[in-house]
Amino acid sequence: MSSSGTIPKTQTAAIVPHLGGDLQIKHDYPVVQPSQLKPGECLVKLECTGVCHTDLHAKQGDWPVKPILPLVGGHEGVGIIVAVGAGSTEADLSQVKLGSRVGIKWLAYSCLMCEFCRKGLEQNCEKNLLSGYTTDGTFCQYTKSWLSNVTPVPDNISSLEAASLMCAGVTVYRALLNSNAHIGDWIVIPGSGGGLGHLAVQYAVSMGLRVLAIDTSEDKKNLSLKLGAEKFIDFKTSKNLVQDIRDATDGLGPLAAIVTAANPDAYAEAIDYLRPGGTLVAVGLPGGGKLAADIFFTVFKSIKIVGSYVGNRQDAVEALQIASLGKVKTFLAKKPLSELAATYKGMEEGKVVGRVVLEIPQ
Ligand code: NAD
Ligand code: ZN
Repeated sequence: MSSSGTIPKTQTAAIVPHLGGDLQIKHDYPVVQPSQLKPGECLVKLECTGVCHTDLHAKQGDWPVKPILPLVGGHEGVGIIVAVGAGSTEADLSQVKLGSRVGIKWLAYSCLMCEFCRKGLEQNCEKNLLSGYTTDGTFCQYTKSWLSNVTPVPDNISSLEAASLMCAGVTVYRALLNSNAHIGDWIVIPGSGGGLGHLAVQYAVSMGLRVLAIDTSEDKKNLSLKLGAEKFIDFKTSKNLVQDIRDATDGLGPLAAIVTAANPDAYAEAIDYLRPGGTLVAVGLPGGGKLAADIFFTVFKSIKIVGSYVGNRQDAVEALQIASLGKVKTFLAKKPLSELAATYKGMEEGKVVGRVVLEIPQ
């Protein structure tokens, strides 16, 4: 075991005591001690963490798979490795070491040996652990993570800017790769003014795609256009979304829809507006939502429907590399950890533009 500095026994953490319950800020939440770390594990002292809509789903218990309770949510953390489990191997320490600045993503642990891991589907590993869902996350000062799965953060990206790349960035980068869209293709991004969506606009533009952004409000319109979307449609004021989307994309519709909205309505008409041969990439995860696709037109238009679930370790490295080249930047509001409950409220009301990133008390 190796550690830098003194590790306190207790810490400040935001806790969900029961699903749907109010958040509590605790100041006596236990810190995993360096002596408790197993080989391959590490302790990360967090600097900041993004707030993803997934954290809100987790708090509300929206999904069929339930989180651990009490829950320390959060899976967009950046901090410093301050302790490493005794017996960690040279391989465990080949990418990061004591003192490295790292990002913590949704996928905290995967076995790296099973069929899914071998195929690059680490997120589908049956032994996986999910930050802020099945293992404590990043709404706290110190969290346990795994050397194999933390992501080194390039020096030229600040921790605040890197945080949301760890979930929102990785996820939309992978989703765009899964869309099979190519340079010059039109794509549509419902949810373009939100956390995932505003990063999707930027990754798409840097891939040479033409972006039609969809969301609501002047602020989200302005952000989407500023980040490189060529056109914007407000889903609340459009009288005929399918026609408006087709008209905006050469009359034929976009080649892909990257649906990042946490709202089943955003999926409803995708089969109708997509271009023949197009791909619907499902990313947003409204609880209990169903995809109702007309079978005839799905076949007749040669449509592909793809579920895209976060990304693997390589996707995380690539998503950060692209940001490190200056192509993608998180649009964020910096707030203290104590503002988490207010952030959830703003998210429920659709008022969060881009991302809220919380500073962790040091
Ligand atoms: P967010 O609240 O920041 O953004 C969602 C955006 O969607 C908002 O701007 C909202 O105005 C917009 N929106 C709502 N209804 C819409 C509609 N009908 N048409 C177009 N836009 C609409 O949320 P986020 O953090 O970006 O997360 C979005 C969703 O993605 C959540 O359900 C989250 O759980 C999910 N998610 C999925 C993955 C994955 O691996 N697939 C990863 C992270 C998050
Ligand atoms: Zn997330």
